[in-house]
Parts: sequence; structure tokens; C-alpha cells
Amino acid sequence: MEQYARILKRLDLKATPKRLAILDILSREKVYLSPEEVWTRLKERFTAAGLPTVYRNLEELADGGIIFKVIHPDRKLYYFFCNNRSHHHHFVCTGCKRVDDLNYCAFKEIEREVSEDLNGIVSSHIIQVFGMCRQCSSSNKADR
Ligand SMILES: [Zn+2]
Ligand SMILES: [Zn+2]
Ligand SMILES: [Zn+2]
Repeated sequence: MEQYARILKRLDLKATPKRLAILDILSREKVYLSPEEVWTRLKERFTAAGLPTVYRNLEELADGGIIFKVIHPDRKLYYFFCNNRSHHHHFVCTGCKRVDDLNYCAFKEIEREVSEDLNGIVSSHIIQVFGMCRQCSSSNKADR
């Protein structure tokens, strides 16, 4: 729990018990969770916790850049934890819901070209790669 308290301090967020618990819940998972799933797990520790509290805390933690939203094709909300502070992107498996870091980015070059084309300034980009992880794609093939 101490490491989460440090993270929250870095983000200038108060280390409330629920916030710490939400960070703990998400960081234990290699998969993305919906707010409802976070809520179910949170209620095991705080029986009176409300769903709006979960939504609010998830948004605050996402603003702080310690948890991330999945831009999911089903347009529902999901979140995952990532404490990797260097610039990177994520691979999201829509089969088993696991999220992996992609520690490379080919978009810096494109950003520069876009800036030149528009004669403006590109400040950031959001990219998430979706697909099936090795396990999911091999079990898919085995089914056929
Ligand atoms: Zn998978
Ligand atoms: Zn990451
Ligand atoms: Zn990038």
C-alpha cells in the first residue's frame, strides 16, 4: 500500500483509503476492468462504497496518468493500471482482456510530418492497438 501512497502523492491526490484500494485492485490485474467490476471488488473492503465514488476516483486517477482508459470498440468504459512513465502505447487483447506495454512508438516521425503539413503544432497522440494475444489467437486456431 505504501507504493500507492507514494504514487498518489506524486499526483497530488490525497491518499484516501478508497483511492488506495482502487489502485490496489487495478494494479493486481493484468486485464482491464469495467467500473462495475472495480466496484464489486471494492465492496469486499468497503461495503458502503457507491458506484459514483468509483467513477469519480477512476476519472481522477486517469487524469493523473496512473490508470488508463481502454478506447474499446464496444464503446464501454474500462480501465487498467500502468506505472510505466516513459512514452509508450498499449496492446489490448479483446479475447482475454489483458493489456501489454508496447515499448516503442513509430508516431514521432508522423507527428513531425503532420506538424509540417498543417504548419501547426502537434502536441500528443493517443494510440491503442487491439487484437488477440498469442494465447488467445492460438486457442482460436485450435477451435477450428
Ligand atoms: Zn488474450
Ligand atoms: Zn503501459
Ligand atoms: Zn507514441
